[in-house]
Amino acid sequence: MILKGKTALVTGSTSGIGLGIAQCLARQGANIVLNGFGDVEGPKAAVTAMGAKVAYHGADMSKPAEIEAMMAFAEATFGGVDVLVNNAGIQHVAQIEDFPVERWDAIIAINLSSAFHTTRLALPGMRTRNWGRVINIASVHGLVASAAKSAYVAAKHGLVGFTKTAALELATTGVTVNAICPGWVLTPLVQKQIDARAARDGISADKAREALLGEKEPSLQFTTPEQLGELAVFLCSPAADNLRGQALAMDGAWTAQ
Ligand code: NAD
Repeated sequence: MILKGKTALVTGSTSGIGLGIAQCLARQGANIVLNGFGDVEGPKAAVTAMGAKVAYHGADMSKPAEIEAMMAFAEATFGGVDVLVNNAGIQHVAQIEDFPVERWDAIIAINLSSAFHTTRLALPGMRTRNWGRVINIASVHGLVASAAKSAYVAAKHGLVGFTKTAALELATTGVTVNAICPGWVLTPLVQKQIDARAARDGISADKAREALLGEKEPSLQFTTPEQLGELAVFLCSPAADNLRGQALAMDGAWTAQ
């Protein structure tokens, strides 16, 4: 229970990786602030089942004013944020010349700028308490590129850069900032890409899933939200006190190639 008495806010935690991370942090005793769209009661119950106190705020991560309201809500509810996990993210797949301008703007706002807003608002409290963890869920696409994902790759590379700068600014404090870079994780975000591939190539979803893994991920295995959650728990542990400004890939050797 390394997070007893601490509070973790995980953006985009009503689904997928964010929910998995929230559950792992809750298991370590943290109060949890959930955020995201869609069903809220299911995710709330899943996190409460870990024995945590749970609150939810529905801020849209593309809107700075709503992010400010969410951070104030976390402060009012639990007295501040000790562990900030910037996880909310969306994807759009298209060649640059066909990329809808509105999708570009949304991806940059949600996958990159929201982390700046949550972090700038969380840091004063973390500095005062001289303890904090900022964990940015980037991607292998923060380290390498794929075609047809220009906005996502730009945002995730930006998030890795932001992680490094924040780690430098906080280097002599008890606040660490790191990024986690997953390869494929079987969540709704990736299921959409599998379904699109199946439709495009006229193949079954199973075959499309195998093709997706085979193309990029040498282990031919998906990473699970729970495995990423346990990496986040490690980053919160005293063993990681001096692990700063890193982009940790958990990617089945994708970026080893
Ligand atoms: P997901 O679609 O399952 O979950 C995304 C979450 O973000 C949901 O809770 C959704 O409601 C929330 N969200 C979306 N737009 C939002 C907004 N405007 N405001 C607030 N919340 C919003 O996706 P996931 O696969 O779990 O992805 C989570 C993160 O992990 C993303 O940043 C994604 O880029 C990253 N990632 C995913 C994979 C993968 O293979 N799934 C790989 C690398 C990185």
